[in-house]
Amino acid sequence: MQDMKKLAQLLKQIEDQLVVCMRCGMCQSVCPVFAETGKESDVARGKLALLDGLLQEMFKDPDGVQERLLRCLLCGSCAANCPSGVKVLDIFIKARAIITSYSGLSPVKKVIFRKMLARPQLFDRLMEWGSKLQGIFIKPVDELLGTSCARFVSPLGDRHFSSLAPQPFHRLVPHLNTPAGASGIKVGFFVGCVIDKVFPRIGQALLHAMKHNEVGVFIPKDAGCCGIPALSSGDTDTFNKLVRYNLKVFNAEKFDVLVTACATCTSTIKKLWPTLAEDLSSQELDRVKNLAGKTMDISQFMVEKLGIRESAVTENGAKTVVTYHDPCHLKKSLGIATQPRTLIKANPAYEFMEMKEADQCCGCGGSFNLQHYDLSSAIGKHKRDNIVDSGCSVVATSCPACMLQISDMLSQAGDRVKVKHAVEIYSESLDKK
Ligand code: SF4
Ligand code: SF4
Repeated sequence: MQDMKKLAQLLKQIEDQLVVCMRCGMCQSVCPVFAETGKESDVARGKLALLDGLLQEMFKDPDGVQERLLRCLLCGSCAANCPSGVKVLDIFIKARAIITSYSGLSPVKKVIFRKMLARPQLFDRLMEWGSKLQGIFIKPVDELLGTSCARFVSPLGDRHFSSLAPQPFHRLVPHLNTPAGASGIKVGFFVGCVIDKVFPRIGQALLHAMKHNEVGVFIPKDAGCCGIPALSSGDTDTFNKLVRYNLKVFNAEKFDVLVTACATCTSTIKKLWPTLAEDLSSQELDRVKNLAGKTMDISQFMVEKLGIRESAVTENGAKTVVTYHDPCHLKKSLGIATQPRTLIKANPAYEFMEMKEADQCCGCGGSFNLQHYDLSSAIGKHKRDNIVDSGCSVVATSCPACMLQISDMLSQAGDRVKVKHAVEIYSESLDKK
């Protein structure tokens, strides 16, 4: 009983944000999880009511509330459409951390986050071993999409996943420090885990684009994860450690802009590092704010800072039809939607075709996909249908995590549609120049 009082006391941190919700239910119409299940506990209003109940000590089931909180993609659709401006994601992330600090992190997550993710060099080595050994457990299933599936019955279920690259990006480019060229701009490049370990080709395309536009690039040796997998599971210890670690490695060199090609990393660095990292000295906090302030998505950087425009060249012959999926962390979190489209349209070999509901969540949601694959794939199938209905042969996006989910959905359905990052499409146009 005393413990529940302690939890209620901890939850007081979010009380002033909880009361902003006026229970209007508008979030029901945009929540992809609620659209599948129709359960009130799956939509923002229901989760906020559960948190309020816990805070008011109306019931005593923190683990049950945490379970409901984790049935959420953190896609931000509810927050983007909330007439009262409820900071739903801030509340959910803080509440997950508070309940985790009260109930404890599961042993599996403790090992993954604290023993592996929090130690970037060890994590890299383990993933490299994983890349070498993965062939024992998985077999290629779709050459066009580069997907594989499990050889034996496994916890991975029916997934068609993009396997670990034979060489991670940090082996191809362990460190880079080139001066600002004619552009007069030097960027720091935050590679992020999925690009590093699964899609190093995106990192290479980005470097190609920077070289072509004479932009200097700094890539520190051994940068770490942005911390979102740990934070979204309530592990603030690992999140704080990674923020501090990355701050140190990027502080080694001066640059004008920190670019990323991962919508989730961009949104985490810009929005969550300055507000949710704890135990930082005032100096560290200033540096976090400074870094967050100069972090940009790569397409935003290229359009707004380098002045990349749609191509005016008319190419003869058939064009490749491409559509674009808006990652939630880019459009709903940061309001970036036109820039990636401009970057794609800068390549005259492509014809752009908008898909229906381009900004509907793909259903990935990081660990949501691992814990609730049935729901994740049900949401992903709507995205797959819209992609295929657009008549495209390539779907582009700006988040490698969305690429994993979309590849899975297309591969399972046997569709002949490639999945690319917007910067890859731009970069292909440079090969012809
Ligand atoms: S979170 Fe916003 S949209 Fe949802 S019920 Fe509360 S006030 Fe309404
Ligand atoms: S963040 Fe997305 S999945 Fe979670 S409650 Fe809001 S709309 Fe639903």
